[in-house]
Amino acid sequence: MGRGAGTGGTMRGEEESRVPALLYARGEGTPVDLRIHQHSRGHRIRRAVAGLGLLWLMAAVAVFIPIAHLILVPGLFFGGIGLFIVRWRRRNRFEAFEATCPACGARASFDLAEGAELPLRIHCPCCDAALTLKSR
Ligand SMILES: [Zn+2]
Repeated sequence: MGRGAGTGGTMRGEEESRVPALLYARGEGTPVDLRIHQHSRGHRIRRAVAGLGLLWLMAAVAVFIPIAHLILVPGLFFGGIGLFIVRWRRRNRFEAFEATCPACGARASFDLAEGAELPLRIHCPCCDAALTLKSR
């Protein structure tokens, strides 16, 4: 009697793949294996609707706050729409990675912003050199 629900490995609605990339500094490159999570259409819709729902719920509660509701209600209403659009457009997410900085040679861990796209300009957390991350 198995429940047979889990697919194992990837999270629901996300597909993980590897993108070979190069981390460049002044012409010198270090190979990096980026892990990218691609959000499925259903996952993006769920996240977008969840964000919209949360802000609109807060707007509904804010209706009962005297004076502050004049700013909070329209702010949260339009903020919900903005969040919906941002989340809907976000197709992928890169995982943080560790690499050897081509400028200073130190092993560093790099965090990439949500929704980042390649090529990307980043800074080494050790020497603050400007680096470029490109797909190979
Ligand atoms: Zn460095």
